[in-house]
Amino acid sequence: AAKDGGRGRLKVFEEAFNTLARDALLIDEALQHAIARNEFHLVYQPIVEARSRKLSKVEALIRWSTPSLGFVGPDRFIPIAEESGLIVEIGCWVLQEATRQARSWADEAAGPICVSVNVSAAQLVDPDFLLLLREFLARSGAAPDELEIELTERVLIDEADTVIRVIDAVNAMGIGVSLDDFGTGYSSLSYLTRFHLQTLKIDRAFVNGIEHSERNLALVRAIIAMGHSLGMKIVAEGVETEEQARMLTELGCEYLQGYLISRPVPAAEIRR
Ligand code: C2E
Ligand code: MG
Ligand code: MG
Ligand code: MG
Repeated sequence: AAKDGGRGRLKVFEEAFNTLARDALLIDEALQHAIARNEFHLVYQPIVEARSRKLSKVEALIRWSTPSLGFVGPDRFIPIAEESGLIVEIGCWVLQEATRQARSWADEAAGPICVSVNVSAAQLVDPDFLLLLREFLARSGAAPDELEIELTERVLIDEADTVIRVIDAVNAMGIGVSLDDFGTGYSSLSYLTRFHLQTLKIDRAFVNGIEHSERNLALVRAIIAMGHSLGMKIVAEGVETEEQARMLTELGCEYLQGYLISRPVPAAEIRR
């Protein structure tokens, strides 16, 4: 019976694995036409100043929906696009759309809103990246301080010298750079000093539960102190409760982002 059980479990595992692998193939294939078929759009999540709760900037987040697969989340399809290299083209579309939106906000009476855009490793080290960035800014007419980019720790590990050069060039254009999902990657702390990053985003895994876990609280306090000592501003991601917001503000975290403030919303809803 034990043997049967083992085989049964193996079968369940195999089926799940096959489904995942098949889905990945379907996603990979559908992604090839996604830009041409206009299947992507961006939503924007507010990032507010912790004390005043005033809108500081918004993060652009990609959404994809196809007739055949329905809605597929970025956590699912971005890694597949990174694997195939298509992320360079998709990321290009995101940058273009985000700069266009930034310009459109700047034209409104209420004034400009800075848009923070996630950039994958392959995109950042692509030889055309800086050229495209300049071109999108010039073409849209958006100002450099209406745009920021977000990188994850993974980006810092591969091809560090190239990455340092690109980050410096991005900074020289007047565009800020954030380190996203901090704490989930592999970068050592000493590594961080090599890169000129203006903002550190604490991953929601640490933010979640600071009100219940002494250890999470200690970790968040240490991350904030470290970021500040490197001259960085801190964004807490995934803030879901008033208690978390209050504690983070007290700890000196400058900005808050999360469902407590707002979910990601269409551009038209950002002013409200
Ligand atoms: P991220 O850059 O860390 O973005 C934050 C994610 O956390 C978003 O998920 C957002 O909807 C979610 N989130 C925000 N507040 C809360 C909260 O209070 N609670 C919870 N549970 N979640 C919250 P989303 O939009 O599904 O994006 C997932 C990831 O996909 C992003 O993580 C980013 O790594 C990637 N991604 C999204 N758009 C792009 C893009 O245009 N380019 C690239 N390269 N990656 C992207
Ligand atoms: Mg991000
Ligand atoms: Mg993040
Ligand atoms: Mg993330």
